[in-house]
Amino acid sequence: MGISQLPPQPVIYIIEPFGGSVRRQNANLPHIFWDDAAVTRGDGVFETVLVRGGRPANLDAHFKRFARSARLLDLPEPKKEQWIDATREAINDFIHDRGISQGKELPDAKCTWTYTRGRQSTGVPTAWLTLRDIDAEVIDQRKRGVKVMTAPRGYSITQDVSEAGKSSESAPWMAVGAKTLNYAANMAALRWAKQHDFDDVIYIDPKTSQVLEGATSTVIVVKKGERLRTPTAGGQVLQGTTQKAIFDYATEKGWRCKMRDVYLDDLLKAESVWLVSSVRMAVRMTRIDDEKMPAPSNEAEIRALINAAMDAKLS
Ligand code: PLP
Repeated sequence: MGISQLPPQPVIYIIEPFGGSVRRQNANLPHIFWDDAAVTRGDGVFETVLVRGGRPANLDAHFKRFARSARLLDLPEPKKEQWIDATREAINDFIHDRGISQGKELPDAKCTWTYTRGRQSTGVPTAWLTLRDIDAEVIDQRKRGVKVMTAPRGYSITQDVSEAGKSSESAPWMAVGAKTLNYAANMAALRWAKQHDFDDVIYIDPKTSQVLEGATSTVIVVKKGERLRTPTAGGQVLQGTTQKAIFDYATEKGWRCKMRDVYLDDLLKAESVWLVSSVRMAVRMTRIDDEKMPAPSNEAEIRALINAAMDAKLS
């Protein structure tokens, strides 16, 4: 492949820990050492932020969860200004590198923040962000929707809770609610789904059919009468920034939005069911296991609601 045929390079910024400098990294040069905890143990945290029209979406919510994830993993508190400045610099470079002139519509892009425990030999955390184009598959799924397979997660990510309802704290180190780099099991579930003619996976409790979340997304159920439901966050369900942005906006517009226990049957009876996450935004489930989910008459309205909710969070 000649240089001119290479896919466009991501913009990468290294963020020095403890309030140090923020500097651009050449995407053709490596920047992670062999003994980095991200490489050897998947030990670190991340966030993925949508960049729309050159503006990051939901920045405060992402930073809040990022800082919380870091705290749960005993990593030093990330410096907000550093990450925000680096994100804005990366966006400027991205626009410049791609020769996108002012006034021209910018394609959506994906900004990923990664923060790891760092090198075993130095103990200094490693942090960087990347800004790149969105996968064609995601753009396609936004239009086409997804066929979804239900599956047990295969393990529990809650702290053990005793019969009496009190935490027995048998695993108090479990970083429940942290968005960690430990996604190998989620990626394996997605590969399995693809091998079986599905696009995605939602985790359910195999005993009760209670719906938890997608492998990398939150489930939103649209019910008749302008009502939205999502599985209660906490424990087995990561609090999603996209779901929250949608619920906040829809509530303002008069929709009734609730977090509560959701079961497989609720999905099958719904007007429509969506997987939402930052970069994908929202994709409609067109099939759940063997059940077809026909397009609802208000599909365009839901899409407009979700788009407006994200636009309201651009900064
Ligand atoms: N749940 C899981 C397990 C995820 O990995 C993600 C996003 O990656 C989400 C939910 C959705 O989160 P957000 O809307 O903040 O991107």
